[in-house]
Amino acid sequence: MEVKVLDEHFGKQTVNLNLIQKLQLKVLGHAYLFHPPKNGWKGKLPFYIVKCKKHNILFIDYPHGFPPNQYFNCPLCLKEMTEKFKGEHEENRRGRSA
Ligand SMILES: [Zn+2]
Repeated sequence: MEVKVLDEHFGKQTVNLNLIQKLQLKVLGHAYLFHPPKNGWKGKLPFYIVKCKKHNILFIDYPHGFPPNQYFNCPLCLKEMTEKFKGEHEENRRGRSA
């Protein structure tokens, strides 16, 4: 089954999921996809397809942090967080100069 993904690592638009991956995604919220074939530090990391419940999208990411406290970063959530941070920063600056 081909699904649409948001992928900021490889620029993929869609990925093919088999039945096991579909089930894992449904039950766990993520499913193992592949180890990237290229060299470099990312070549050693497993990449997963992950569901963001907030944005109702699928995205590709590798696990951050260390087991058992690993997590994935939804690109849209990250963007929102960055914008919120920037907004607060701007407000602080305005507040100080007023
Ligand atoms: Zn999200």
